[in-house]
Amino acid sequence: MTLPVSSPVRVRFAPSPTGLLHIGGLRTALYNYLFAQKKGGTFVLRIEDTDQGRYVAEAEPDILDSLRWAGLKLDEGPGVGGPHAPYYQSQRKKRYQELAQQLVDEGKAYLAFDTADDIQAMRERLQAAGNASPTYNAATRLQMNNSLACSAAEVEEHLAAGTPFVIRLKVVPGERVLFEDAIRGPVAFDTEGIDDQVLLKSDGLPTYHLANVIDDHDMAITHVIRGEEWLPSTPKHLLLYKAFGWRPPQMAHLPLILSPNGGKLSKRNADRMGIPVSVQQYRAEGYEPEALINFLAFLGWNPGTEQELFSLDELVDAFSIERVGSAGVQFNLEKLAWFNAQHLRQLPLAELAQRVRPELEKAGYEVEDAYLQNVVQAMRERIHRRSDVVNDGRYFFEDPVEYDEKGVAKRWKPDSATLMRLLAETLLSHPDFNAKSLDDAIHAFAEENEVGLGRIMAPVRLALTGVMSGPSVFEMMEVLGREICNRRLKRAAERLG
Ligand code: GLU
Repeated sequence: MTLPVSSPVRVRFAPSPTGLLHIGGLRTALYNYLFAQKKGGTFVLRIEDTDQGRYVAEAEPDILDSLRWAGLKLDEGPGVGGPHAPYYQSQRKKRYQELAQQLVDEGKAYLAFDTADDIQAMRERLQAAGNASPTYNAATRLQMNNSLACSAAEVEEHLAAGTPFVIRLKVVPGERVLFEDAIRGPVAFDTEGIDDQVLLKSDGLPTYHLANVIDDHDMAITHVIRGEEWLPSTPKHLLLYKAFGWRPPQMAHLPLILSPNGGKLSKRNADRMGIPVSVQQYRAEGYEPEALINFLAFLGWNPGTEQELFSLDELVDAFSIERVGSAGVQFNLEKLAWFNAQHLRQLPLAELAQRVRPELEKAGYEVEDAYLQNVVQAMRERIHRRSDVVNDGRYFFEDPVEYDEKGVAKRWKPDSATLMRLLAETLLSHPDFNAKSLDDAIHAFAEENEVGLGRIMAPVRLALTGVMSGPSVFEMMEVLGREICNRRLKRAAERLG
């Protein structure tokens, strides 16, 4: 059932523009991207916008922007074009209508004129007769108002009168649909459980099933990699491939993403647990694209080695569908936080500074690039998110407004003010204001004054930052510079007495 190995790999990400791209969607896009890159194939974006009721105008720009942010470059699709344009289903209507009609002409599909009430009545009738889940299928279709049950003259009458109709697939009962899922192995469905699905709606627009199959065929898609929630649709799709006489692509259904306490990670569920849902939310909360990608890669796949940190290019090298599991994977926000810290630390200084800058601007701070690079250098091992540079390192951008009470109570001694004033004087004439020489100077200062180093360091930290933790005091002093250190030491002496 799979395509010959020789056909060039083409995969697609086919979101419906019904809202902001969510992380599950980004994971699907990522796995498609990795697979395509690994195989030297093509990664296509197709917008499945046939459901006008659920259409959201901001969705498509958000999808494009989120993919760009994440670094998943498209080979074909909206914005980049390609040989199979247009990549919007809403612009391919004619093709779907022609092919649906072709199935009708071949006796593989039929026109159905039933109203919603007709269908409801059928359901109620069958339920009353003991059928728990009545469907429109081989067992019921001949009792309905369609071109199989009506005479040719009646059908003509309907058409002449403009009675709205849908086109349904005529599913043959008693057959089995078998396929080999690249992730889950052999999968089988009985056609008994498949209804005469609607292919073309009464407004002339295709359903997801019809449009999806036609486009995957027309766009020469070789592998369909999508979420497990689409698995039940697959037999319907395979019946359509068969009806058209086309070879279906290889199917691969990614495992479900589970909430940390089990169950599917629904939007409601996620909201309740403070787990962001949309990619935009992750961006707004200051997660780095490299971290989110690394995290999502592990949400269903593993390299089979100890390595956890991967760049996108390294993921491409390491990725294989064979190493994607079929069991649901639990979402773990702490793990993402860990990935985020790791990736932040790995960024080149200039890049890290650039990512931190908007956080400064939000907080109303203005500093030179060189200074900011020194700050992030001092902070990089301690931060988990870019905003931590501002939140935890506020003292790099303004004098402390207050001093940690507990710290003061414990570490600010009766002689601290005198020592800080003395130190400030000493440092005024200290030749090189760098971490190493400050380290030496402060050691010497402690000795001269016959106090333990701790009696100096803790008050200095408090005086400079107002808080009890942060990077090395010497390193911090070098970044802050002579003038600021001098000013803050004296100020603390004055204010804390
Ligand atoms: N439009 C579907 C979605 O929103 C596509 C599913 C598929 O990949 O076939 O996810």
